[in-house]
Amino acid sequence: MRSNGRLAAGAQMSGHHAILRVAIPGSAALCFDYRAPDGRIVEPGCRVRVPLGSRDRVGMVVECPAATPVDDEALRPVGEVIDEAPVVSAQLLSLLQWLAGYYHHPLSAVLRTALPPPIRAGAGLKEVAPERQPPQAGSHRLNAQQQRAIETVRTGFARFNCYLLEGVTGSGKTEVYLNLCESVVGAGRQVLVLVPEIALTLQTVSRFHERLGGGVMSFHSGLTPARRLDCWSAVFAGGVNVVIGTRSAVFMPFRDLGLVIVDEEHDSSYKQEDSLRYHARDVAIKRAQRANVPVVLGSATPSLESLHNAAGGKYRHLRLPHRVGRHARLACRLVDMRGQAPHAGLSQALINAMRERLAKDEQVLLFVNRRGYAPVMLCRDCGQSLDCARCDAHMVFHLHDRKLHCHHCGKISAVPRQCPACGRDALHAAGVAIEQVEQALHELFPAAGIARFDTDAVRKKDQLEQRLGEVHSGEAGILLGTQMLIKGHHFRQVSLVGVLNADNGLFSPDFRALERLAQTIVQVSGRAGRGDVPGEVIIQTFHPDHPQLVSLLQDGYAAFASQLLAARAAAALPPHYRCAVFRAEALRIEAAMDFLTRVAKLAARTEGRGDVQFYDPMPALMEKRVGYYRARLVLKSADGHLLRRFLARLMPQAAALRGAAKLRWHLDVDPIEFD
Ligand code: ADP
Ligand code: ZN
Repeated sequence: MRSNGRLAAGAQMSGHHAILRVAIPGSAALCFDYRAPDGRIVEPGCRVRVPLGSRDRVGMVVECPAATPVDDEALRPVGEVIDEAPVVSAQLLSLLQWLAGYYHHPLSAVLRTALPPPIRAGAGLKEVAPERQPPQAGSHRLNAQQQRAIETVRTGFARFNCYLLEGVTGSGKTEVYLNLCESVVGAGRQVLVLVPEIALTLQTVSRFHERLGGGVMSFHSGLTPARRLDCWSAVFAGGVNVVIGTRSAVFMPFRDLGLVIVDEEHDSSYKQEDSLRYHARDVAIKRAQRANVPVVLGSATPSLESLHNAAGGKYRHLRLPHRVGRHARLACRLVDMRGQAPHAGLSQALINAMRERLAKDEQVLLFVNRRGYAPVMLCRDCGQSLDCARCDAHMVFHLHDRKLHCHHCGKISAVPRQCPACGRDALHAAGVAIEQVEQALHELFPAAGIARFDTDAVRKKDQLEQRLGEVHSGEAGILLGTQMLIKGHHFRQVSLVGVLNADNGLFSPDFRALERLAQTIVQVSGRAGRGDVPGEVIIQTFHPDHPQLVSLLQDGYAAFASQLLAARAAAALPPHYRCAVFRAEALRIEAAMDFLTRVAKLAARTEGRGDVQFYDPMPALMEKRVGYYRARLVLKSADGHLLRRFLARLMPQAAALRGAAKLRWHLDVDPIEFD
């Protein structure tokens, strides 16, 4: 009774009963065919209760095929029809089917990702009364660029179009979103706003709330299942005008979607890195296309993918080149760290600049992209490092519990007294991470309050709010943080930004590292000088002559990105090429490599290869993680459609390989990480 959707030749019509093809979220298989209850029409998008093996499961009707390969006697009847009318519209269902095809993932598993748990379990939708309040804030007088951007999108409201809104932090992008939302909501339609992080949903919701007055809801993975059901029900009923959410919000059941906005479109947290490896930005674009409405991608530092599409005419490029307000220019300088004796990673130049700012009661933001106290413990005598037994990684020393932590598998262990290699008493913490910087800052600036933002210091939502409160009240003079700090938060009194170590991304084997480094530098710089104080950015580096770093600072992100695009073209890398990666993990590297070698052999024999290229499988850069050995096989093509068709032929063959079911492996389409 298993059906793969392709009908065998000569498949019979199953009697006179209507057939329902049902996807069961979470079941590993494809879809199953059932007999509809007598005389009933059940539309795709309705949930049904069906027998599967000896159990009853909730599934969703995804198709009403005219015929089934299942024999009439074997065709089991649907147990119960849960929904009178579809809970997933034809439009949303077709999007989910697109995902299944594009990411080569079973539709049942796509439904599992897309639907909140109570919906998957068959719960009824709730009645939710819409909340309405009058708006509290009015619009600013828009500048010419903002007006032009808004007009351009507005004239195209009636159809799909993709706009890339590029504007530095503080250039008024959010103001553009708000104006567009007012128009769409005024016309009685709904808006989807995607943001990369939960913390940003809260901040963005309050700003939209003030302006639009109710009807604004946030949706993200941090909500309880019950709350997710409430949101889902409210959006479904049309009681919500604007949904602001992280990537899974792209699957909300809008009644009448009028506009899609993806803020910080370059952010890699839009990519889900397990099970269904979708990119929410790309899905959002497909969603807008299906709804035939515009989609606006906003960023101060657009991804090379989006810049490439804009350059090729697929997207319309809108620019907000100036910051709103008086102090448009940021002074940016590199500090050469060669031959310096920094204090916990802080150069004298940075310390001096901090002292000046703090003396004037201005705030300083320091960006340190390393958690813990010291990234590695070394033996002074024999040079041995303390590494994780399960991962190819150093253990990181943390001060708060004086223990060693593996940042990859979460293992925590005590610091040994002696070096495990030579037995001598010569272990010491080497290198600088954020806790060490904090410690040094307390000594250097005892009077300045310090607010630290990283996943160790800020574990809960109220801690984040408390910390932000200390910053806004002026209690904290120094803000110290990892990525967590630089996303979207507005700090009006910060006038100096320091990047402690810019060099991580300069010589990485990951070809996206430079793009990411530039985005980080520009984003972190965007935190300075938003108030009425002129801002300054100091970047510490051992490579002050690095051509790309220099280009970024001298010519700006756009010029930097176009150079990088040219380099990617020369190297036949994304976005000029489309990629897919097969990854395998096993307890022995040979098993992972062997599987991928057999996939590569299959690929070599598969028809329609065209220009699809692939290399020999390779162990991952981080070969061992959480006790598993990892390998990968990269495929690429200049033609995305061709690659997709090729993978569609290859995937079922790979899945049918001997041993495939015993190994952990997956296919990642449009990977962000190559390792
Ligand atoms: P972005 O989203 O690009 O970072 P925002 O839309 O948040 O920029 O704008 C930055 C700040 O400038 C906000 O405080 C906003 O209220 C204000 N702002 C935006 N547009 C204007 C304008 N046209 N006139 C005056 N202030 C504005
Ligand atoms: Zn580990």
